[in-house]
Amino acid sequence: MEIEKKERKISVAIDGPSGAGKSTLARAAAKELDFLYVDTGAIYRTAALYMLRRKAAPESAGETAALLPEIDISMTYSGGIQRMLLNGEDVTDRIRTQEVSMAASVVAAHPPVRAFLLEMQRNMAKEHSVIMDGRDIGTVVLPEADVKIFLTASSEVRARRRCLELEQRGTSREFAQLLRETRERDENDSRRAASPLRPAPDAVALDTTEIDFQESLARIIQIIRERAGL
Ligand code: C5P
Repeated sequence: MEIEKKERKISVAIDGPSGAGKSTLARAAAKELDFLYVDTGAIYRTAALYMLRRKAAPESAGETAALLPEIDISMTYSGGIQRMLLNGEDVTDRIRTQEVSMAASVVAAHPPVRAFLLEMQRNMAKEHSVIMDGRDIGTVVLPEADVKIFLTASSEVRARRRCLELEQRGTSREFAQLLRETRERDENDSRRAASPLRPAPDAVALDTTEIDFQESLARIIQIIRERAGL
């Protein structure tokens, strides 16, 4: 009798501050390894977009928590691209503005918001081999992840990358302002009491300040192969 083999699900957590290159690198690594890429920042952004639309103050834990029951967030994948649905509406492009970036970072500090979004993230890793990027994947969401990587880069380099990204989208912003906002988000993300941004003790640190995309990608894939025994 043939016993059905259960495919081993591998989970890779990539955490780090905004602009360290997590999403582009995680997406490319997932493609190369044939894993599902899960961008958890997009989930927080989607919740933040709802709060903004309903004119709730992002800094108010009470106002934001009261709106959670009205929010249904789901993800679909089309051609390997993660699309975000907010109450059935595709908001994938709408969540990429700087206004939503800032609101997401504020909204994400509230424990009820984090608790509300936790199961959804964990379920993705139960069903698929994933590379999941965020701030607390290795510490809170997937503490048992097979591989944990903490990606960093100087705040100047990160703001410069964000500047280029916005330029390519046709929504240029001044570098000095982006640098201030990058540092403000770092502060919000690392100082908050609920799941602050910090490396898991067993994470491999990778600083991409001085290395380009291809080299960063090669190193990430090497770390994953070594640690996951692929
Ligand atoms: O990664 P991204 O910049 O899209 O994330 C937007 C915001 O969502 C971050 O500034 C952070 O505050 C929050 N976030 C989080 N935990 C995650 C992913 C994102 O708190 N796992």
